[in-house]
Amino acid sequence: MHSFSYKDGSLHCENVNLADIAREVGTPAFVYSKRDIAGSLAAFRQALSPLDAHVAYAVKACSSKAVLQLLARQGAGFDIVSGGELWRVINAGGDPALCTYAGVGKTEPEIRYALEQGIYCFNCESEEELRAIDRVAGKMGKVAPVAVRVNPHVDAHTHKYITTGTNENKFGVDIDRIEKLYAAIHATMPNLQPRGIQMHIGSQLTEVQPYLMAIEKVAPIAMSLKERYGIEFWSIGGGVGIVYDGCLESASANWWRQHPEQMTIEGFAAAVIPLLQPLGLRIIVEPGRRLVGNAAVMLTTCLYEKQGEAKLFKIVDAGMNDIIRPALYEGFHEIWPVKEHHGDTVTADVVGPVCESADFQAQDRQIPDVKPGEILAEMSAGAYGFSMASTYNSRPLAAEVMVDGDRWQIIRRRQSLQEMVQGECGLEER
Ligand SMILES: *Cc1c(COP(=O)(O)O)cnc(C)c1O
Repeated sequence: MHSFSYKDGSLHCENVNLADIAREVGTPAFVYSKRDIAGSLAAFRQALSPLDAHVAYAVKACSSKAVLQLLARQGAGFDIVSGGELWRVINAGGDPALCTYAGVGKTEPEIRYALEQGIYCFNCESEEELRAIDRVAGKMGKVAPVAVRVNPHVDAHTHKYITTGTNENKFGVDIDRIEKLYAAIHATMPNLQPRGIQMHIGSQLTEVQPYLMAIEKVAPIAMSLKERYGIEFWSIGGGVGIVYDGCLESASANWWRQHPEQMTIEGFAAAVIPLLQPLGLRIIVEPGRRLVGNAAVMLTTCLYEKQGEAKLFKIVDAGMNDIIRPALYEGFHEIWPVKEHHGDTVTADVVGPVCESADFQAQDRQIPDVKPGEILAEMSAGAYGFSMASTYNSRPLAAEVMVDGDRWQIIRRRQSLQEMVQGECGLEER
């Protein structure tokens, strides 16, 4: 299912030896497989082809220019959550008319920018936001296409920081208030045009059941909105999960046969199509993680081995500033040495150089007994990896590389120290 595997004792991405990349660009570095990203987009499209379906890639998962370019060239749309993301999409050659704009805190300049660029729809999260868009559109003499994000009260059984469809979180409008809100848009917000309805119940979902429950709850509302206001689309959000634990094995077809509980793109599509097809609406899906998550690794070098009182530490040159998922929401990444090991495992914590106790990549993990100087690959690092990176501890942003068959190119130079402080202004003399 993805393009990372050992060949001749060395971990490869497609046909490129990751050791060669590490030697030339250094570490930490993110390495993406072009084939995996393009292949996942194609798989969504193929699987959803019985519907009038459109894929809007959730840009926040990985917003690097070359990744957006790759998807834009395949005709993908984009789900954005800020004016900055819209700018990135346009800068990468993406079509604003294929952009949906989500998020609870859109500012007036962002709304104006999105209206100027002619985005497909604002996916709105509150009545106050709708009124703000109505006001801005009125001032510009435009009519803004809108959808409301419905919160269907479904527990997606995922980590508490990435569940979004229950009544305790900040996202969306309660399902019981949706129809009243559309009536208010129709009656009192003359510069808005209801174009659709939207939901997104959470991220890293590994089972299809929560989607089906949400779709069953929202479908009658979608139908009624279609009849009353002529809405044309229903965005069912993103959230399709990936394999983090067992990801190397999951590359084989055999693994998938043995894990029928793991949601695939095809399984997801087959389950939702029968519920959605009769509605006669355009269906938008907003995958982020599933398009890029398994499609990249982060390369890091083991710097030191430290035997603490209670634990063995492998200290690496990538920190929580490079990939924050383990620190932020207990994200799990398999750790594989680029040079294949046989049998010699130890239990260790893999930690970075950042001065925070939360700066770990793995805890109490059985890993090959790697030694200082060795290159490691943190697997499944493509989603919410580089896009969440910072320069905390004054550590410049990592390099990024795209592999295509047996070729590869740098898609982001490692940030220089000068670039890191660009925009900072020295204190005036007194
Ligand atoms: C984050 C987000 C997505 C993408 O979620 P994934 O789990 O990465 O697929 C889609 N839609 C909205 C509104 C989001 O906020």
